[in-house]
Amino acid sequence: MEVPPGFAEIVLVLGGLCVGSFLNVCIHRLPTRTSIVFPASRCPSCGHALSWKDNIPVASYVWLRGRCRYCGVPISVRYPIVEALTCGVFVLHWFVFGPTPLLIVRLAFACAMIVLFAIDLEHQILPNVITLPGIGVGFVISLFLPPGPVMSLAGIALGGGLLWAIAEGWYRLRKVEAMGFGDVKMLAMVGAFLGVKLVVLTFVLSSFIGGIVATALVATRRADMATKVPYGTMLAAAALIASLYGDGLLAWYLSTM
Ligand SMILES: [Zn+2]
Repeated sequence: MEVPPGFAEIVLVLGGLCVGSFLNVCIHRLPTRTSIVFPASRCPSCGHALSWKDNIPVASYVWLRGRCRYCGVPISVRYPIVEALTCGVFVLHWFVFGPTPLLIVRLAFACAMIVLFAIDLEHQILPNVITLPGIGVGFVISLFLPPGPVMSLAGIALGGGLLWAIAEGWYRLRKVEAMGFGDVKMLAMVGAFLGVKLVVLTFVLSSFIGGIVATALVATRRADMATKVPYGTMLAAAALIASLYGDGLLAWYLSTM
């Protein structure tokens, strides 16, 4: 069967917007440990149930000018941002992976990273319900697809072990917790999905991003040197870049040596 040109892209854009809308529900409800399926969406302020008209990704936010239709209280700008971001991430994945089984795996991985990104930014936690099953699922998939089970196991060991050693060493040295073990489990999950090479790249990229974010915050006087930016947020951004462009980045780096 011949697929009309542009059809896949349209499906990806609409699918990305709808999935982004679902990710918003996960981001809102996972930290409070409520079901992500029931009840139907409500305004967090007035509790009015939302109809389909209030739930159209991005469009509803723009149409309602960022306010609840019923009580007029401002809606978090996080909703349209997550929807648009998920849509963009879906399209990028299509350009990189094309119609392959790996596309589905990396899209699922990207969704997990977007949820962890937003929850860590807002609540400074990385829920175990994502990271722990993520380690197992990443490894099982690696039995059939890249990076393969050996690379995946090495990724789990190095990703988890690296951060665990830093956290433990820092604690012994300074008697303060440098990072929570949520970060350790998250980087182990990244290792399970992406393998040992890309988990190293993720770690390096997250330090770069951390440096840039910290410099920007200090330069614009939004923060001083002691302000903490949640590490899981930068780890998620780094893992997304590594998943999409890591192989190319590594090849380029090795060619310059
Ligand atoms: Zn309301």
